[in-house]
Parts: sequence; structure tokens; C-alpha cells
Amino acid sequence: MECVFCSETTLNIEKFYEDENFVAIYNIRPVVKGHCLVIPKRHIESMLELNERERMDFISFSNKAIFIALKYANANDLDFLLQKGENAGQSIKHLHFHIMPRKKNDSLGVNKDKFFQSFAEKENTVKTLTNNEMKAVVNDLRSIAENHRIQINEL
Ligand SMILES: [Zn+2]
Repeated sequence: MECVFCSETTLNIEKFYEDENFVAIYNIRPVVKGHCLVIPKRHIESMLELNERERMDFISFSNKAIFIALKYANANDLDFLLQKGENAGQSIKHLHFHIMPRKKNDSLGVNKDKFFQSFAEKENTVKTLTNNEMKAVVNDLRSIAENHRIQINEL
């Protein structure tokens, strides 16, 4: 079975920002508003497999994706989450980092036990976006990227 994060079809629909090494997509099952994923273009499973160029690019690219996601969700705070390996809950075997914009009194909570419990529950129960819902969100994210191009380039 083809990897969903390597699939051109997935990327064409869900991608809102990219550079040479990484792509940012909107999560098809967002746990909170603005829940995005940062993914290397190369199919690797673990952060330990990032090459030197990807490692150098990673923080800068992630900051750009974070900027866009926070603007979209109208939030200042976020969780940035990596799950490496099955025992940590990694479900898709293509490296991905979750960006989850956070707001006061949102449904995830700040208590760590509750956070991971809510995150795990929501990942399993949250509704999958329809194609039209995904298109609308991705259009908004792409507009934010376009409208703040200069600021984003400096991150
Ligand atoms: Zn892949």
C-alpha cells in the first residue's frame, strides 16, 4: 500500500506550504482547529534518519508552518508533538510532527495526563474532514501564507 504522506493525491489536496525538503499539510482529522503536520518530502520513518540538509532546514520550516497555523486558529500557543514508533503512538510510518494551536480552556487541557488522554481519544473519534471542508481550510491557510510572505520568509 502506498504511503499516504507520499501520495501526490493527498499532498495536492492537503498541502498548504512547502520548501525543498518539507511540506506542511492540514490534518484530515484535526484534533483542534489549525491541527497541521510537518512532513519531510523524503519517505523516512524516524527523526534519526533526517539528513544534514533536512536537519538544518527543519526548525526554520517548522516556524513558518507554525506561524501560518497560529494565524489560522487565531491562537498564540501550541503543542508541537512527535510520536516516534508504535509504542509512542506513531500510526503512519512516515515521519510527521503535529502542530496543534492551543487556546485557553480548549478541549485538550494543560494537565499532561489529561492532554495525552484527550489527544489519543480525539485522534480515534474525531470526524474526518470531507474534501470540501479540507479544500476550504487549505485555501485559507494558503491565503495566510501568501498574505504574510515577507514575514514568513524571515522566520
Ligand atoms: Zn511516505
